[in-house]
Parts: sequence; C-alpha cells; structure tokens
Amino acid sequence: MSINSFVGDTSKLKTLVGIRARLILLALILVVPMMLDRVRLLEESRQQQVQIANNELAELARHTADAQREVILTVQAVLKSSAFIYGLARTPDQACDILRASMRSDLPWIRSISVVGNSGKVSCSTSDRIVGLDLSDRSYITRARIAKSFVVSDYIFSRAANLPTIMTALPAANTISGDHSVMIAAIDLKWISELMRRRTDRAGLSALFVDNNGIVLAASRSQDASLIGKPLQEQALLTAVANHEIDTAKDSGSLLFQSRDGKKEITFARVDGTQARMIVSIDESELLGDIDRSIRTAYMQLGILVMFALLGGWLAGERLIIRPIGIITSLANRVGQGDLSSPENDIRLPPEFQPLARAFGRMAVQLRERERELVATNDRLQVMASVDMISGLANRRGLQNRLEFEWKKAEQTGGPVSLIMIDVDHFKLFNDTYGHLEGDKCLRRIGEVLAAIAGEAAGFAARYGGEEFCLLLPKTNGIAAMEIGERVRAAVEALNVPHSMSAFQQVTISAGMAAVAPGQATSVQDLIEAADAALYVAKHRGRNNVVAHALIRADEKPLSLAS
Ligand code: GH3
Ligand code: MG
Ligand code: MG
Repeated sequence: MSINSFVGDTSKLKTLVGIRARLILLALILVVPMMLDRVRLLEESRQQQVQIANNELAELARHTADAQREVILTVQAVLKSSAFIYGLARTPDQACDILRASMRSDLPWIRSISVVGNSGKVSCSTSDRIVGLDLSDRSYITRARIAKSFVVSDYIFSRAANLPTIMTALPAANTISGDHSVMIAAIDLKWISELMRRRTDRAGLSALFVDNNGIVLAASRSQDASLIGKPLQEQALLTAVANHEIDTAKDSGSLLFQSRDGKKEITFARVDGTQARMIVSIDESELLGDIDRSIRTAYMQLGILVMFALLGGWLAGERLIIRPIGIITSLANRVGQGDLSSPENDIRLPPEFQPLARAFGRMAVQLRERERELVATNDRLQVMASVDMISGLANRRGLQNRLEFEWKKAEQTGGPVSLIMIDVDHFKLFNDTYGHLEGDKCLRRIGEVLAAIAGEAAGFAARYGGEEFCLLLPKTNGIAAMEIGERVRAAVEALNVPHSMSAFQQVTISAGMAAVAPGQATSVQDLIEAADAALYVAKHRGRNNVVAHALIRADEKPLSLAS
C-alpha cells in the first residue's frame, strides 16, 4: 500500500468512525448508567435478602432456646405440683390415681408423667405403656436422687415412643409411707419441629435440631422428617460447626459450608444449658433464585440495550449524517463537473440538510445564468474579434473562417470559389499628403464600396490588413469574378477621392483575382497566394487595374493573366 493510499484510508476511517463513534458513545452514555443503576439495585436487594434470611435464622435459634426454657419451666412447675400431691397421698395407689387424674391436657408437650420407684422401675404413669419399664440405668434419675432437685436430661430417645425426648426428673417423697420416688416427665419435642417449620417457611431455608452426637432431634421441613432419630448425614457440617465454635469461642454464629448439593450459608446456635444445636442452612441458589434470575435478566437486557444503542447510533449516523453528506457531496461534484441542471429538492435529506441542498440548487441556477451570459459575451467578443473597426468589414481572421467554411461547402457541392485581393495604390503617399485621419476616412469609404458590391454579388468582403482588402466570391467563376473586380475598381475610382501624389490624381486600387474549383487539388492558401500574385502583377502594370491569375480553368477566358 502506498503512503498516499494509506493516509487516504486512515482519514476516511477517521471520518466514518468519528461521527458514528460519537453517536454510539452518546447512546451508550444515555443507556448504560440507567442499566448499571438497575443492576446495582438488584445486587443491593440480593444482599438485603441474604441479610434478612440471616436475621431470621438468628431469631429462630434464639426463639427456640427461649421456648425450650419456657417449656422446661412449665414442666418443672407441673412436676413440683405432682410431687406435692404424691407426697400427701395416703397410699401409693391413691397417689397414682391422683397423678393420672391431674395430667394437664393444655400442655401438649408433656407426653407423660411417671413415678419411678426405688427399684428404678416405673410404678405409676399417665401413660400405661410405661408402667413397669426399668429406667434404673438412666443417669438423669440418679442425678435427681443425688441432687435432690429438679434435673433435665440430655436429649434422648424414649424407649416407649422411640421419639426424641427430654426427660425431667424431680425427687418426691411420700410423707406417709416414707417412700422416696422420682417424678419424671417426658417432654415431646414435636413442638420444636413445629416451631421451626413456622419460622422457616420460606424457600431455601431448612433447620435441623441436632444433639451433641449428631442425632437429628427435629427437622423443619416435612421431607426431612425421616432424618429424625438418625445421625446427621452430613457429618462434615457438624464438624464445621464444632470447629467454628472452638475457633470463635462462641456457641452461635454463621459460616459458609460447601455441601454435596451446593454452597450453603449456615447459622447455628446452641440451646441454653444443653449440648443440642439448632443448625439452619440457607441454600443461596434457592433463596436467591428469583433475584438471581432478575439479575441475569437485567444483564441480558443491558447487553441487548447496548447492542441496540450501538446499532441505533450507527444507523442514525448513517441516515442522518453520512448519507446526507454523501448526497450533498455528489451534488457539489455534479456542479463542479459542470452539470448545472437544477437539483430537485431531495426529500431523502433530513430537514437540517435541505437548506444546504437548496443553496447548492441556487448556486447551480446562478452558475447556469452566468454561463449563459458568458457564452453570449464570448459570442459578442468573437464577432468583435472578427470585425475591423475602421471599415466595418470582417478582418483577416473573419475572412479566414469564412474562406474555410466556403471552401468546405464548395468541396461538397463542387462549385467554384473566387478571391479578389485589393490594395490601395500609393496609400503611403496619401497618408503622407493628407494625414492618417484622412487615410482612415478613405479606407472606410472603400470599405463601404466593397460591402455594397459584396452584398450585390453574394460575396464576402474583408479588410485583409493595412490598406489591403479582400472579396471572397463563392459559387463564382473567374470570369464573373473578373467582372466584379472591375466593378470594384470602377466604384473606387468613382468615389473621386483626390490623391495629388497619384498619377491618376485620385485614390485608385489595384486588384488580383484567382478562381478555383476545389476539386483542383489546391488549398485555400494556394488561392490566397495566387490572388496576391495577380495583385503584384497589377501593381507592376501601372496600378488601377485588375489581373486574373492562371489558376483559373482552361475553359474560362481570363481578361489578363498574372503568370
Ligand atoms: P503601393 O501602391 O505600392 O501599394 O504603395 P503604397 O504606399 O500603398 O504601399 P506601402 O506598403 O508602401 O504603404 C502602405 C501604407 O498604408 C503605409 C501606411 O501608412 C498605410 N496604412 C496602412 N494601414 C493604415 C491605416 O489603418 N490607416 C491609415 N491612414 N493608413 C494606413
Ligand atoms: Mg499594400
Ligand atoms: Mg498600397
């Protein structure tokens, strides 16, 4: 590529890219901030959703602990009142009857209240299935006996119902029999699942209540009900929670956990006074599914809008600027190349460009008028350039043109052409004698004579130069031309212009005539030279006479021959 074409290409590129790029940039400036703001709002809303879910989790853990404390307090109160009644009963059977009758139905979480005798066997219970059950190995009973106070067990599985349970125990002594028994109450943990279900009723949230050994005690989601009573499948989760507790020295907190089915935000809290933990997990993809979809849609919209902005900017540049400039440029080129036909109002142009197009139109019209004027002036100048100002006849240039024209015409028609060369005799002496002005006047009068005769003879008279004249006679043969030459000579003589220095005492002319048929292999120049030669002879013959040149055809009889 040459340097020139390279420079041309880059400047073209600059013009094209320049306007379009600016329009595209403008479109982007308008669209992008709006879309970015929308994406920002969605991202913010996403953060808020996560925050809200986290807060709810913390709230859930706290609420569960509070609820448990409340439940245990009520159970303690119930056990105390049962122990009191038991202590006052006269016989164990009466005590048992009273106990069974006093079981409160408005406390659904108390599954049963039982009395464990010294042997460690259940001697009385509000639930028949339990009576006779050997609980001597249960540590909470021993602990209650030793502590002589209310004791809460760890989470255990009740042997009777095979359900997660917390057992509470309170020593009770019968004042009459002196029998030392232990009142026990089994707390149903279904309420924890219920509480958790109500609190985590939202997509992506699930809660598990797990004891220290990782046995699931309660689950918020009905599909997780089968996990209850079994070890937590995701043991790694429990390890992660335990590690987090050690690391932070706190028995509640939150962490990110990568489970088998995706990334999860985990919040956990240990329930007061127990080793059990509430573990709540947020599946981000589920919780934030809708908002993530909205963000994806917003990004897609941003992409599409940006594409439209680019396309719009490009097309707008093309239609509104580049194409009109192209049209105006071709208009200017047309005018520049001389095509001045008035450009019709281009409706394809945007309104802003139409005044420019109209201005071009007016310019073309004005240029057309100027050109017309110029042609007319030129024609006038051409006429002026072909006319002699003194005699009013055509000048030598005019003669030359006419001669060539008549010559061609004669060639086509085959007709003859004659030329008479006329020279004023002793005109230098005339000027010397009468002055230049008189000389001019004389030349004018001779011009008039020649014009008149040319008019009669359908000829063409011209001033050849100085005091020499010419009479072109188309379609005229030598004989006729000699007669006309003679008429010229006589007419000048008849003017009777005095010339004291001439032998004739008046202004006379000498003339040389040559006639030719164009087919004779001669040229215009030959004809002029022949007439001139004949004139030369006429001068030598004493002036005031007309001589014919030998160019004349043989079948014509010249009056006199120059050679
Ligand atoms: P001859 O008979 O041999 O032609 O003699 P001549 O004096 O006419 O010829 P010559 O060539 O010696 O002189 C021509 C003169 O014509 C000289 C010049 O002063 C005069 N002349 C030429 N043009 C003009 C003109 O436009 N006006 C006037 N007044 N005189 C002119
Ligand atoms: Mg002369
Ligand atoms: Mg002369």
